[in-house]
Amino acid sequence: MIRIKSAHEIKLMQEAGQITAAARAAAGALVAPGITTRELDEAARKVIVGYGATPSFLNYNGFPASICCSVNNEVIHGFPGGRKLKEGDLVKIDVGAKYMGYHGDCAETFPCGKISDEARRLIEVTRQSFYEGIKLAREGQRVSDIGHAVQAYVEANGFSVVRDYVGHGVGSELHEAPEVPNYGNPGRGPRLIAGMTIAVEPMVNQGGYQVKTLSNGWTVVTVDGKLSSHYENSILITKGDPIILTVLPDKK
Ligand code: MG
Repeated sequence: MIRIKSAHEIKLMQEAGQITAAARAAAGALVAPGITTRELDEAARKVIVGYGATPSFLNYNGFPASICCSVNNEVIHGFPGGRKLKEGDLVKIDVGAKYMGYHGDCAETFPCGKISDEARRLIEVTRQSFYEGIKLAREGQRVSDIGHAVQAYVEANGFSVVRDYVGHGVGSELHEAPEVPNYGNPGRGPRLIAGMTIAVEPMVNQGGYQVKTLSNGWTVVTVDGKLSSHYENSILITKGDPIILTVLPDKK
């Protein structure tokens, strides 16, 4: 069942979203050659806890950290740890925070030092595919209109969209209905209604869209070993343009 949020719930989700975005930014700002992915995790966790929130991912189905940190060919669900980042790495940071009972969920791909032109283009196309998708994220459209726009933009730029993992509703649960695929025909799935909150999260591969899960049971990698990029925000559906919930808090 898709839950429509009340004005009060939306306010709490905006607060959770800002905390989540602050954690993403804090971890992302540290991405540089030599830092470990565990240090990025600690930075994000400190921000979340500092706001009186809790990391949504920590212990979620047994996940061992506050962020997913996925590097290069890793698509999602990488474990932070002792891995030292190297010049040229593509570093995906996915983070969630729960505040006053509501979750924010967002992700971004950060370049480590100098990266190749192709890797930079992959990051930019992934980010822009999110914005192309959410042009259709408004009351009256259907859920699959978003993914259709994402896929069309990504494939027009010569990359591919991961199909095995999708965006999702977000609210008092980290993952709620509906599923929000990043591919497929338009005009399918539930109709969008003002007050729905969803996480739109294109995962874009440099090569083929096929992915597989490593033996740790979590980390998803590209089958062809090529690069992958991820960008995500939690958004609020309205009668007009959607409102991005995972934005940095206003500087006071
Ligand atoms: Mg998500």
